[in-house]
Amino acid sequence: MTGALELIRMSAAEMGTLLASGEVSSVELTEAHLERIEAVDGAVHAFLRILPEVALGEARAADSARAAGEPLHPLAGVPIAVKDVLATKGLRTTCGSRVLENWIPAYDATVVQKVRAARLPVLGKTNMDEFAMGSSTEHSAYGPTHNPWDLERAPGGSGGGSAAAVAALEAPLALGSDTGGSIRQPAAVTGTVGVKPTYGGVSRYGLVAMASSLDQVGPVSRSVLDSALLHSVIGGHDPRDMTSLNEPVPPVVAAARRGLNGDIKGLRVGVVSELGGRGYQTGVLARFDEALTVLRELGAELLDVSCPSFRYALPAYYLIMPSEASSNLARFDAMRYGIRVEPSSGPVTVETVMAATRAAGFGDEVKRRIILGTYALSAGYYDAYYGSAQKVRTLIQRDFENAWNQVDVLVSPTSPTTAFKLGEKLEDPLAMYLQDIATIPANLAGIPGISLPSGLAEDGLPVGVQVLAPARGDAFLYQVGAALEASFEAKWGGRLLEQTPALPTGVTASATINGPEGGAK
Ligand code: GLN
Repeated sequence: MTGALELIRMSAAEMGTLLASGEVSSVELTEAHLERIEAVDGAVHAFLRILPEVALGEARAADSARAAGEPLHPLAGVPIAVKDVLATKGLRTTCGSRVLENWIPAYDATVVQKVRAARLPVLGKTNMDEFAMGSSTEHSAYGPTHNPWDLERAPGGSGGGSAAAVAALEAPLALGSDTGGSIRQPAAVTGTVGVKPTYGGVSRYGLVAMASSLDQVGPVSRSVLDSALLHSVIGGHDPRDMTSLNEPVPPVVAAARRGLNGDIKGLRVGVVSELGGRGYQTGVLARFDEALTVLRELGAELLDVSCPSFRYALPAYYLIMPSEASSNLARFDAMRYGIRVEPSSGPVTVETVMAATRAAGFGDEVKRRIILGTYALSAGYYDAYYGSAQKVRTLIQRDFENAWNQVDVLVSPTSPTTAFKLGEKLEDPLAMYLQDIATIPANLAGIPGISLPSGLAEDGLPVGVQVLAPARGDAFLYQVGAALEASFEAKWGGRLLEQTPALPTGVTASATINGPEGGAK
């Protein structure tokens, strides 16, 4: 008999094996996670909404499907948490914003539909920076998430809720979205694994848009193989997404298994000269150097690669992203979605209602970016700002093309620092933006990237290493990632997360527990 704590600290793949052998049911597994959420989420606040009835209903259905002998995905019956940026049919979806506090979508995002079809029970919706703008989850209108490694620190962002849920053993798997690093950076600072797939490899239908040419949905997990398994569920062509690639999911699971056997001999690995050095924390660089040593030991060929235009990636991103966001967020006009606020005085017209609603509904960071984006796109400035940024984007893509002529994958630290204290960067937007210096180039080029744990820094906090591959080369990420993970875990004697200081237990969840419709406040 497996104890509840033993059960929830397993990898999703291991849980899948137990489910397949009948040693545990999906209902038992889901209950164990709901109990964990109840015990620790008051302190962590990874969830905005917990959906016990939904999850248990789906778990029962998974158990019945298994009993009926239906062919099932290896993750069938394993519960999952979903970032609140993804539309869930009949279940409130807020995007971390006041403006959407009452929005109940009439449809599921394609990835949610796929996860449900594969019979993964949805435990709840996770916290995030408002409209996915931020690197700490502090820009959520519903309060920050706390990093399970140190509750006074941020879990990264914007997908800090998904990463913290996985790190705190509240969910074995989660879905995130990555526009500039929102899956990979939270993974790095919480000791978890996060993947941004190739742009177009996973459907964006039902993902609330921030910057449509950069956004991509991807997996969050505790092991590389688990992310590959989840990638195999959510990936593939979707006719409802115009930018969806019309091709099958790359062989990600097979690649992860190859990597687990240490099979990366002869692979050419490029070390990006521009992503490291000044501004990076000592412990981050030390753990990165160790990752390079491991790769060398496994027989990979290491090469320094220069990507000179990367130094303009951050400024280019902070023009392109706000420009697209200012246009995407124009739909929150008090007429079609979300809240409606009337002006406290003066005439009630279309304009005044729109202005009052947007003033009350959006937080500071969202307003800052709408203003920036509107300015960058305005007549007379368009060429100087947006136009130049698009040219830089092309230069960054050329840097990558040049790199792929020399190597199969690129590696770098995921984030320049470990988890920072809540409040530390809140008043300094530029310091917050710098968190994504190493993750943003991949979004600008549409290529895939993974972050996985590479040890603890001098401050005892987790560090992530990033692997990047050419577009459609997602399988490489899993092969190299799994090889690194296997070597690291052999050295650490288990998963890095096992070294998390004990989480508080017995804390009553303050997070809202809703009825099946998830509509209660
Ligand atoms: N932190 C970055 C930003 O604030 C990236 C966000 C994201 O990937 N959604 O824009």
